[in-house]
Amino acid sequence: KVRVRFAPSPTGPLHIGGVRTALFNYLFAKHHGGDFLLRIEDTDRTRFVPGAEEYIKESLEWAGIFTDESPWNPGECGPYRQSERKDIYMQYAQRLIDEGNAYYAFDTSEELEEMRERLKAANVANQQYNSITRMQMKNSLTLSEEEVKERIASGEPYVIRLKVPRKEEIRLNDMVRGWVMVHAHTIDDKILMKSDGMPTYHLANVVDDHLMKITHVIRGEEWLPSAPLHVLLYRFLGWEDTMPQFAHLPLLLKPDGNGKLSKRDGDRLGFSVFPLEWTDPTTGDKSSGYKQDGFLPDAFINFLAFLGWAPGTTEEIFSMDELIERFTIERVGKAGTKFDFDKAKWYNQQYLKEKDDNELAQYLLEDLKAEGIECSQEKAAKVANQLKERVTFPNEFWPKGKFYFVAPDSYDEKVVRKKWKPEVAAALGDYANAIRGIEEFNAENAHTQLNDTLAAHDMKIGQVMQALRVAVSGVGNGPDLMIMQEILGKEEVASRIETAIE
Ligand code: GLU
Repeated sequence: KVRVRFAPSPTGPLHIGGVRTALFNYLFAKHHGGDFLLRIEDTDRTRFVPGAEEYIKESLEWAGIFTDESPWNPGECGPYRQSERKDIYMQYAQRLIDEGNAYYAFDTSEELEEMRERLKAANVANQQYNSITRMQMKNSLTLSEEEVKERIASGEPYVIRLKVPRKEEIRLNDMVRGWVMVHAHTIDDKILMKSDGMPTYHLANVVDDHLMKITHVIRGEEWLPSAPLHVLLYRFLGWEDTMPQFAHLPLLLKPDGNGKLSKRDGDRLGFSVFPLEWTDPTTGDKSSGYKQDGFLPDAFINFLAFLGWAPGTTEEIFSMDELIERFTIERVGKAGTKFDFDKAKWYNQQYLKEKDDNELAQYLLEDLKAEGIECSQEKAAKVANQLKERVTFPNEFWPKGKFYFVAPDSYDEKVVRKKWKPEVAAALGDYANAIRGIEEFNAENAHTQLNDTLAAHDMKIGQVMQALRVAVSGVGNGPDLMIMQEILGKEEVASRIETAIE
């Protein structure tokens, strides 16, 4: 059975690249009828940010990405927080030591610094702790067994390092990138267990993926350099047969294509890089989020899916279910994808105009309430219907539809200058009078009446349309004018026309 995981570190708000990784994992799992797990990788306590875990949970829930197993709905492979699995990692680190694939190292930070300086002075490009340099350092490969025991017993701090072989080519077949080959001498003896007894990412990640029966590791390209190291770990731990398949997703690039999209780009370029609003707990700085900016979850998801994946056709609108049906790793590209915020807005518009009027009315009703304006559900739905083709975000309903609730206090200058002629005002005055007498006023009979009045004045509709629109709404363009009048009601329309004429 396919089992994939999303493994964020709670070091700050989840950003858009993280949500995309979660989404691709989710789509892959569901496409194959498999499980989508979420594991919190919180072993680096120095980078822990309070609230980040809740943020991850809320973000995914908002986006409609649901986990089969997670800290919040645990399955059989728990705990799902790495900080609660400390003892498990120690066991495997011990096994690596016992089998000669890892070793204790006692070097102080000064000693490590000295080593680097020495290598630098000798013009060694990568100052690594590796098969060559480790022989000059303080570790269980160079110290006697006695001494190692003594040091540990006396409580001296130590780390456990991986013993990377000197000569060897490590290969892996990535589902996106194909064969990746790396020479072992480019990898250093990575720390597996830190002096605080916590594992590093590498050990914890591999151990957990194995114990949680993960079949495919789908993650950002920034983890590709770590993959060969993980392959080594799988081998040393004897888990090569069940090693997951890797798929490294292409980078998300800045809109101009110049480098990786960073968390700071949002503020700089005027768009959100976070799914939800976030307030930094230390600085109090606020960042905007897609939800609060007025993005609809389905639009957001559709947009994200296309950051690195394409259906291979010209189709662009996909619901979550359709994405699940169509998603395959084969259609994930290698090249980085530029982040295009205008496309995100375009998606929002596409979804917004398809939404049910009554649902959209809620956004407007909320804003109206804040303004102290009363409005029925029915009227709000009608207004939303008139405006939904013309807005990108639901929070535009109120500013763009203010005239449905408040008479205009100014009129579009250009239209007034060009169209507001005395004969036009006279005809509109008659029209205002006439509609007051219509018993059941609606778009249709408003139109008929306008035609009748104009016929009597020997005028054409083109001569008065814009003037009428400005008199009623204040602005020179907008949604269907007859329906607008129906929504406003005959008294309101007539009185607005009379005010305009004065
Ligand atoms: N904890 C890592 C992260 O924050 C997970 C990387 C992986 O998926 O292996 O991205």
